Amino acid sequence: MMRCDVLTLFPSMVESVLGTSMLSLAQEKGLLDVTVVDIRSFTHDRHRTADDRPYGGGAGMLLKPEPILEAVDSICATCPDVRIVMTSPRGRQFDQAYARNMCEDSRRLVFICGHYEGIDERVRMVMAAEGREVDEVSIGDYVLTGGELAALVMIDASVRLISGVLGDTDSVKEESFSSTLLEYAQYTRPVEFRSARVPDVLLSGHHGAIREWRHRSSLANTYARRPDLLEKKVLAHDDQLILADIQKKESSENLDSSRRLSS
Ligand code: SAM
Repeated sequence: MMRCDVLTLFPSMVESVLGTSMLSLAQEKGLLDVTVVDIRSFTHDRHRTADDRPYGGGAGMLLKPEPILEAVDSICATCPDVRIVMTSPRGRQFDQAYARNMCEDSRRLVFICGHYEGIDERVRMVMAAEGREVDEVSIGDYVLTGGELAALVMIDASVRLISGVLGDTDSVKEESFSSTLLEYAQYTRPVEFRSARVPDVLLSGHHGAIREWRHRSSLANTYARRPDLLEKKVLAHDDQLILADIQKKESSENLDSSRRLSS
């Protein structure tokens, strides 16, 4: 069971995604428990002010520290053992290993969603000074308008790794990044479509041959699309041979096509 709180100025944005597909099912199955917390409900003025202009000038508004820290305190009052995840483009990059680490963490995960120009720096400083574990996490090198989509991406990627969330537990064992390699090519019916055929081996019913073909396809996909992943991996001797064969075929295909172009 993964337990989270999402602190946001836009609760409906988070709730609409949580009410759909796998995230909704995971909650129904009791494998995910998410509380969406409206940061504005921790303001105390008539206008429910949660943001203000940055000191020193500059564009836009910043989320004020008091409502966010009050919201965190109210969660910690009933559940002191929390892990705080501040969504931020300057944070460490979210990846499959982080998703797995989150879903295996028994603590309550508190996601803080910034908006506008971001969050007053003292939110992070005060929580760290109070001894709370705070991760600043980015979902990629681009800037979103708010942290809501980032928090949902992280929750989605983590919760699907919990046993019982997906119908077929094998789905997460063989997919991209589960073993540093990208997933193999997949096909469904029809067998032939616009003269492109499903590889015969997949129709053969020969499980050993299918396994081998898929492994080769995984290596080929990773080599073609994300060679950086292969550089980080120490390949088994058999895989080195398969990869050398893939590279040899690729260079002879390139040679053939350049011959065709020049003839
Ligand atoms: N002024 C900030 C900067 O230049 O780094 C960007 C603020 S952004 C417009 C508003 C909020 O969206 C951030 O506080 C953060 O919560 C969220 N956000 C934006 N990009 C993100 C990313 N790549 N990963 C995670 N959160 C992001």
